[in-house]
Amino acid sequence: MVRTDPYTPKRSYYECQECGYREAADSLGSCPSCQGPVRNIAVARE
Ligand SMILES: [Zn+2]
Repeated sequence: MVRTDPYTPKRSYYECQECGYREAADSLGSCPSCQGPVRNIAVARE
């Protein structure tokens, strides 16, 4: 039987392109550490 889990945690990860800082957030405009540009990286799902 295949069931769809109604609880699917959705979390975005952002990684700073300058210092590599990572943070899980809904949205992140810039690195809180160095104010550098961040990019959304996909998180591997289990
Ligand atoms: Zn940074």
